[in-house]
Amino acid sequence: MPYTRITEHKHFAPWESHERTVVYREFSRLCGETDTPYYPIRLVKEKQQLLNYVQKARGAKGVTFIGRLGTYRYLDMDVTIHEALLASKSMLECIVSKKQLPCFSVDPMV
Ligand SMILES: Cc1cc2nc3c(=O)[nH]c(=O)nc-3n(C[C@H](O)[C@H](O)[C@H](O)COP(=O)(O)OP(=O)(O)OC[C@H]3O[C@@H](n4cnc5c(N)ncnc54)[C@H](O)[C@@H]3O)c2cc1C
Repeated sequence: MPYTRITEHKHFAPWESHERTVVYREFSRLCGETDTPYYPIRLVKEKQQLLNYVQKARGAKGVTFIGRLGTYRYLDMDVTIHEALLASKSMLECIVSKKQLPCFSVDPMV
């Protein structure tokens, strides 16, 4: 199939009924100069940038980098929420035990 995915919104609310419908298809392409980059990609150049970023981030104190932006990984919502809950639990434990916050709750290089 040429598209990444196909969505028909009426299926999100099966209890509703509609006479008409909207179906849309998403097509992937490389991000251009004027686009908003949506998806983290890890090619050679990006991996080097990530390594530089991770090394710099590891020097920061009192901050934990999480999520898609903070770890430069493609994440779905369920994984993002799961990791956010684990990170907040770990942060609360650090605060209670007066330990330093971890720089990353998930190793971004894995
Ligand atoms: C086009 C697209 C379609 C997707 N479809 C799905 C899907 O169908 N199902 C699914 O499960 N997941 C989907 N995802 C993935 C999902 O959106 C992400 O996994 C999720 O939003 C990641 O959450 P996050 O909190 O890590 O990052 P984000 O939601 O990106 O949140 C980061 C936040 O940080 C803010 N920010 C950025 N820079 C700064 C700064 N310097 N200072 C302060 N704030 C800043 C941003 O404005 C943003 O609000 C899709 C993502 C995209 C882009």
